[in-house]
Order: sequence, then C-alpha cells, then structure tokens
Amino acid sequence: MFLAHYQGIFTTHSIPLIRIRQEEHRLFLFDFDSQSITDWQAGEHGIFALPANTRIKRKRSWRAFSILSLPEEGLLRFATQIPEECSAYKSALLRLRQGDEILLRGPFGPFLLPKENNPLIFIANGIGITPFRSMAATLAERDDSRPLGLLHMAHLQEHPLRPDMEGFLGNRTNTVLRFLTNREGFADGVRESVGMFGGEERYYLAGSQSFIRDVKRLLRFQGVPRRHINTDAFWGLSHS
Ligand SMILES: Cc1cc2nc3c(=O)[nH]c(=O)nc-3n(C[C@H](O)[C@H](O)[C@H](O)COP(=O)(O)OP(=O)(O)OC[C@H]3O[C@@H](n4cnc5c(N)ncnc54)[C@H](O)[C@@H]3O)c2cc1C
Repeated sequence: MFLAHYQGIFTTHSIPLIRIRQEEHRLFLFDFDSQSITDWQAGEHGIFALPANTRIKRKRSWRAFSILSLPEEGLLRFATQIPEECSAYKSALLRLRQGDEILLRGPFGPFLLPKENNPLIFIANGIGITPFRSMAATLAERDDSRPLGLLHMAHLQEHPLRPDMEGFLGNRTNTVLRFLTNREGFADGVRESVGMFGGEERYYLAGSQSFIRDVKRLLRFQGVPRRHINTDAFWGLSHS
C-alpha cells in the first residue's frame, strides 16, 4: 500500500512552461501545461529536471517541489523562493522561457489527506506551506467542513501563499489560522493545538528537516501519538 505512493516516480513527463509569476517576498510561481498528466493528489510532489540545454555543469540539475495546484485547475504549478544570490539551479529556472520543456518525474508521495474525517492541524515553516495549498484547495472544493488548524512560522512576516490559504480556509467555521514570526509564540501555538479538537487531530508537518524534527519532538512531548503525525521533510532546504 505504502509503495503505491511512490509508483509515480517511475513515470516522466515533458511539460512545457506556460508562465512564471513573481509574488511578494521573491516567491516565484511556475505554471506548466499538465495535459500529459492524467491525475495527481493534493500533497504530492515531483522531481523537476532542467531542460537538456540548460543543465548545470557539476551540479544537480533537478530539485523536488510540491505541487500547489489541483488537476481541476488545468495546470501544474510549483512555487519556490529565489533570493538574489541563489543556486545555479534556481537561476536556470528563472531563465526558462514560455514553451521550454522541463522533465517531471512523478507526481508521487505519501503526504496525503487522510481517508478518515479527523480534524487536521497543518504546521509549516517558510516555503513548507506549499503542499498545504493543494490540500486547502481540495477541502474547499469538497466543501469539507472538518475542524482545522494552520500554524505557519516565517521570519519577518514573510508568509508565502498566505492570500491563497486565507482565501481557501478563511471563511470556514471551526478553523484557526495563525501566521507567526517568533519561535516562542510558535512553540506556544503548537502546544495549544494539542487536544484543540478533542484529541482526534491528525498532524501534518512540512518544511525544513530541522523544523520537522523540532515540532515532532514538541508534539511527542505533549503526548501526541507518533501515528497521528505525518511529515513532509523538504530535504535540501537549508534554513530552519
Ligand atoms: C518532498 C519535497 C518537497 C519540496 N517542495 C518544495 C517546494 O514546494 N518549494 C521549494 O522551494 N522547495 C521545495 N523542496 C526543497 C527543494 O527541493 C530544494 O532543495 C530547495 O528549494 C533548495 O534549493 P536550492 O537550489 O536553493 O538549494 P541548494 O543548491 O541546495 O542550495 C542550498 C542553499 O544555499 C544557497 N545557495 C546555493 N547556491 C548559492 C549561490 N551561488 N549563492 C548564494 N547562495 C546560494 C541557496 O539559497 C540555498 O538556500 C522540497 C523538497 C522535498 C524533498
């Protein structure tokens, strides 16, 4: 069953770029034509390799990115923050032009919404918010009104995709959205989330490896069973 989540890794698609859009805090959205991909699920990611003519010498020409969009939106979108001083891969991404084809391996991954109707707590740092954008879109599309909490930690009030998250989740009842900027406030938020919906909560954590390790430790310390915690570690992401 678990292996089924990784089957997509054996499939590659050559997908043309539609557009690149820049938002606040140097967040870039990359939209691709998704016609060659039949389906994918909220929370999945893919491995994106640069076109052959833009490969980087002696460096990895691929990165994993979560997929923000749903098939119903008619395109495949990922998002990443690209600072002025960035990796060769990311600067090659910014040089892509409309129609350039990137190679996608996937989509795949086990970080999926539960089949059961449990309340959900989404916890992310920085760009770790990306898988929750497609999950929030799915819940909105299904009119799913289960209780939900979102805790997002980012420095300097830079909360990528905040407008999307508020758009999909802002009008629900039984929903708590918290965008936090300091570690103490964030840790308090995590502690307060435990038992918030009667102990039936299922936790979803996404972001840098060190962030996931710390939040998981905090939750376990508060008595949350290991099986109630799902994680999506963005290995490769340097900041915590
Ligand atoms: C399942 C999964 C899902 C993921 N989803 C996403 C996602 O949705 N969005 C996302 O952004 N990431 C995602 N990641 C992480 C992503 O794959 C990359 O590892 C991450 O974005 C860092 O890429 P990079 O090219 O900046 O890093 P690297 O090349 O590994 O560089 C590491 C750090 O050094 C800095 N750096 C590198 N070269 C230079 C340079 N020349 N000058 C100055 N600084 C430099 C970079 O800014 C970066 O912070 C995901 C990872 C996994 C495993």
